[in-house]
Amino acid sequence: MRLCRYDDDRLGLVRDDTVLDVTGALEAIPTARWPLPQGDPLIAHLDAVRERVEALAADAAARPLAGVTLKAPVANPSKIIGAPVNYQKHLDEAQADREINVGREIKTIDHYGLFLKANSSLVGPGEGVALRFPDRRNDHECELAAIIGKPGSEIPRDRAFDHIAGYAIGLDMTVRGSEDRSFRKSVDSYSVLGPWFVTADEISDPDDLDFTFWVNGEVRQQSNTRHLIFDVAGLVEYASKFYTLLPGDVIMTGTPEGVSPVAPGDVMVAKIETVGRMEVTVRAA
Ligand code: MN
Repeated sequence: MRLCRYDDDRLGLVRDDTVLDVTGALEAIPTARWPLPQGDPLIAHLDAVRERVEALAADAAARPLAGVTLKAPVANPSKIIGAPVNYQKHLDEAQADREINVGREIKTIDHYGLFLKANSSLVGPGEGVALRFPDRRNDHECELAAIIGKPGSEIPRDRAFDHIAGYAIGLDMTVRGSEDRSFRKSVDSYSVLGPWFVTADEISDPDDLDFTFWVNGEVRQQSNTRHLIFDVAGLVEYASKFYTLLPGDVIMTGTPEGVSPVAPGDVMVAKIETVGRMEVTVRAA
């Protein structure tokens, strides 16, 4: 099932090039009072929501996908987790590029651990990326994003997939420079999630997905998740050693080689096999 959030926070069921309005399924989410439970309420109640979506789909109003504004399919993650240097060829290019490594030796993910991106940086593809620092280098990083479903701490890798609700495409937009990753990657609109949320039952092997990323029609990144250094289960295991993972938490799994700067007016397109394709415009902040 492909679920999207669109326009004025409506819930959509995506089928081919059509969005079915199944906003009524949000009634399956219990009303919460302060203090709000951590984690995304839709993902936390996904089974009940899916049941309602299926019941509503037959009579739902249909809209062409091209005519809606897609927002991040997870509205309220408790955290967005990033995986630094999780593809060997990205390590190689970072090591060779002074603008990326700013004079530091680049090591792999097991040296750095993980990092967090501010939740306030999260947008959907229809909202676009607003470049905050046009005088600095702002790069795209196209990544597979895994969305946590069942909460857990210290999750062993052989149980990791029990904790994943689905997948999306993530763009881990980055200002290059010497500051901490969490600072440079948390600018407003520098975390793009979309185009929708694909439930895990539709992805037979997240560690074998082809993906391609274009800027203005030119291929910039092309890889397969089989080249991940820490694979999806490994990232769930690693992250949950340190953080309790909660429903809706987003793990951006890392970017392959081919990162490059973008400028206002650029149109980015990302496509991941079986997950989908999304278009994101870059503008000045
Ligand atoms: Mn990244």
